[in-house]
Amino acid sequence: MSGGRPEPLLPVAPCAACGTDVLVAWDLDEAEELVAVCARCNAVLPADADRRPADADGLRELGFTLDEVPGDGGGCGGGGCGRG
Ligand SMILES: [Zn+2]
Repeated sequence: MSGGRPEPLLPVAPCAACGTDVLVAWDLDEAEELVAVCARCNAVLPADADRRPADADGLRELGFTLDEVPGDGGGCGGGGCGRG
């Protein structure tokens, strides 16, 4: 045991629309496929985007704080989130 509390690892990826690395959010597309989207502008990120995990410090550098991270993709299980 090496101590240290686990930090949530969230992916970040470059968003062309934002022109910077952004926190990746997840959404369902029209075919109800899970797609990565920009947490800032909601643009769909390419499937081959260079996603990588970010720790809390990395997120802070990107201007996100964990307090503002909207969950971890859970909560809207069935996809009936009032979209549409
Ligand atoms: Zn964006």
